[in-house]
Amino acid sequence: MLKFENVSKVYEDGFKAVDSVSFDIPKGELLVLIGPSGSGKSTTMKMINRMEPHTSGKISINGKDNNSYVASELRRGIGYVIQQVGLFPHYTIEKNIAIVPQLNGWAPDKIKTRVHELLEMVGLDPEIYASRYPKELSGGQQQRVGIARALASDPEIILMDEPFSALDPLTREQLQGELISLQKKLNKTIIFVTHDMDEALKMGDRIAIMKDGKLLQLDTPEKLLHEP
Ligand code: ADP
Ligand code: ADP
Repeated sequence: MLKFENVSKVYEDGFKAVDSVSFDIPKGELLVLIGPSGSGKSTTMKMINRMEPHTSGKISINGKDNNSYVASELRRGIGYVIQQVGLFPHYTIEKNIAIVPQLNGWAPDKIKTRVHELLEMVGLDPEIYASRYPKELSGGQQQRVGIARALASDPEIILMDEPFSALDPLTREQLQGELISLQKKLNKTIIFVTHDMDEALKMGDRIAIMKDGKLLQLDTPEKLLHEP
């Protein structure tokens, strides 16, 4: 459902951050992108929703070139979760999650129902948390809100760029497990960036290894572990 064919990205300064990358992700797969800092992982993610347009090759989503979607379609169809959740501090949790549904013009009662459903989905009691402000939540709880927000418009694809790397090890492990079950339940296509091999092996249906802008290998955790 998400296909890269010889995709490259050359930044304005002439630097080639992604070099002829090809892969094909079926619906419902969690693909982990792993590689050292500067290997092109974030750039690869940003090209999917055109935050950074690719300079050559072809990216298609459900068989359609990503350049032929209008920007709002891409934003609605693709959720994005990053390390710095970026919740609006002066908005309640409910209001933070409601931003995209509001932009989509949903009725207020439909939004409220959806926000409560999303909070439950990520393990936060809406009665307690909907009316709170971000600073009243722990890092792990804020990250859950970030996931809820990314799920708000029911996107087909979710991009996660080191979403758990700022969390303490226990919270991180808990969220890893929860994300896997949530993903299997909702059958979402997820690309998950990390530089932690343990996390990659635990989370990935398949793992793509990047270095210097190139895709070195793409395989299941079992194959990566057991084949030379
Ligand atoms: P990663 O996510 O693997 O750390 P990035 O995709 O962020 O890698 O960056 C890949 C390379 O592209 C890095 O060398 C980085 O400095 C460079 N880069 C990223 N963004 C830009 C930009 N806007 N302009 C020029 N170079 C960039
Ligand atoms: P990460 O490695 O976590 O993706 P970076 O610290 O590399 O993030 O980059 C942070 C931001 O700065 C990104 O939006 C990226 O596009 C931009 N950036 C990174 N490297 C460069 C660069 N060499 N020139 C211009 N912008 C850059």
